Amino acid sequence: MSVAAGGGRAAPAQAAVFLDRDGTIILNDGDLGDPDRVELLPHAASGVRLLRDAGYRLVVVTNQGGVARGRYDEAAVLATHDRLERVLRQATGLDRVIDAFYFCPFHPEGTVERYRREHHWRKPQPGMLLAAAGEHGLDLARSWMVGDQERDAAAGAAAGCRSVRLGSASAASVADFFAPDLHAAARRIVHEDTPRVSAGVVTLHASESGSLADRAIRSALEASARALAERTGVRLVSLEWTGDQVTATVEGAEVIALGFAAEWRRSTSAWWRSRGESGSLWAGA
Ligand SMILES: [Mg+2]
Repeated sequence: MSVAAGGGRAAPAQAAVFLDRDGTIILNDGDLGDPDRVELLPHAASGVRLLRDAGYRLVVVTNQGGVARGRYDEAAVLATHDRLERVLRQATGLDRVIDAFYFCPFHPEGTVERYRREHHWRKPQPGMLLAAAGEHGLDLARSWMVGDQERDAAAGAAAGCRSVRLGSASAASVADFFAPDLHAAARRIVHEDTPRVSAGVVTLHASESGSLADRAIRSALEASARALAERTGVRLVSLEWTGDQVTATVEGAEVIALGFAAEWRRSTSAWWRSRGESGSLWAGA
């Protein structure tokens, strides 16, 4: 067991969405090293806003081979990212949008010698995602990569993330999903990560035909079901009365419905006897 300095527990790793930059958040007109030419793509701001509101950390991971090709320098990349963050803050109304920017300035065919090489940060390799996960405490298995190129989806898969590729579906892709733009990708991610609510259903049958037809008896039984649900913390979705039976639907696994029904049966049977009725209310043991 590892314990963080100070004796406290380490903060749990967080889910992130790794975002490609060019063609995903901003217009891709080739290598961009000019902050004044930053232009958000349609639905990009609403997409990052949705992801932020859903609690994801946001990390930009971008190949910047333009540095290796001598078209602009690393300082220009940093200035472009500062500008992008400001534009996103303005467009979303948030105080902070992107938690961290990672870029890879290397390219094996670069013209600037110090950048002319392959590098494990260059997508489709997952180096930037792995570095960000280590530095920011991110849970890669709960994280996503979104980008417009296959190398983005491949980097995500190599890092153990799920991925959404922007554009039309292609059979050859390793992406988990396709989406037309960043907002649609964000909606897909939030949808996939929202726990599905399961429901348990159980039916009780009246022992005597017609006993559930009495409105006063039905409403007393219904009141006891709601009181029981409240007392036990079970969410009662519905009670459906059909002829001589009632079907209860509760949120959660089937076993919760069975437990709820058993307790409801027991308490209403006692109530039935206390009325001096002969016989039992429910069929079965
Ligand atoms: Mg791109």
